[in-house]
Amino acid sequence: MPGVLPVLQGKAVINPGAPLIHDLDADLHGNVWHLLPMEKYRAHNWQCFGDLDLRLPYASIYTSLGCPYRCSFCCINAPFDGNQYRMRKPEAVVAEIDHLYRTYGIRTFKIIDEMFVLNDRHVRAICDGVAALGYADELNFWAYARVDTVKPDILATLKAAGIRWLALGIESGSAHVRDGSAKRLRTEDIAGVVGTIQAAGLAVIGNYIFGLPDDTAASMRETLDMAKALNCEFANFYSAMAYPGSALYTQALAQGLALPESWAGFSQHSYECAPLPTETLSAAEVLSFRDEAFHEYFSDPAYLGMVERRFGAETRSHVEEMAQHRLRRRLLGS
Ligand code: SF4
Repeated sequence: MPGVLPVLQGKAVINPGAPLIHDLDADLHGNVWHLLPMEKYRAHNWQCFGDLDLRLPYASIYTSLGCPYRCSFCCINAPFDGNQYRMRKPEAVVAEIDHLYRTYGIRTFKIIDEMFVLNDRHVRAICDGVAALGYADELNFWAYARVDTVKPDILATLKAAGIRWLALGIESGSAHVRDGSAKRLRTEDIAGVVGTIQAAGLAVIGNYIFGLPDDTAASMRETLDMAKALNCEFANFYSAMAYPGSALYTQALAQGLALPESWAGFSQHSYECAPLPTETLSAAEVLSFRDEAFHEYFSDPAYLGMVERRFGAETRSHVEEMAQHRLRRRLLGS
């Protein structure tokens, strides 16, 4: 706007935060899918294990925003100025799924909520609504849950709505490291919940983090051993990052730790990836362990055998091929 820019030139202007939107359906959810190239979106490979052709078409939908928890490595609430959990109306979510199915033929969905399996009434209303559409057996959803929010009696309801995968933030094999990241879960509860979800016919993605503040070489090994013992249908391995807005970021600034110089340094898979060091490990050691853990897990005969039994020989070959690709990393001189 002429007349405004010259006044602001050379100055960073920080506006006050906008008030939180509480009625997500009224204020945020117009039907604007037609503005997107819907034919170009593709699901993660693992979501379509067993039938990799179903990765397209694909859509991600929100049913809630925010998370009431405060894990130290997580910055998810940073844009919302507080730990508030806001939900859409279940009937609006179901109508949106029906629209995407009928208009774009979408059967593969991500529920992108930070924490979907949390509010029992919300989850049941959405799942019952989707099941009543009459084609839930064609659908394939995945969603986030926590070990301590998954109750066994919800699993049949999730499955009837086409939810086939739950992602669990397991984070560390060491209870001490989990406690230090404000994620207090008992090891026996983790194994029990993973087994209960699998017994109900859903698959599990285990998420793990290497290089949390209390991590040592031994505790990172403990984490990888736990991942291999749990043998979830898929696993994501992350290095701990001081994402702006997280408690880890505040701690890193207070301790004067080196932080990435560009946004690319915060990216888990980038060449510039620069995780946090710990008291006993350099950033390069954490990153190197993370990358080797990926190859060890996805080349493990026990894992590959499970994949073949559960999803077939073609999926096993796909995973074997995936595990051969190595990331180039500046920190590791590769
Ligand atoms: S890691 Fe998950 S449970 Fe923890 S604050 Fe972030 S979204 Fe919530």
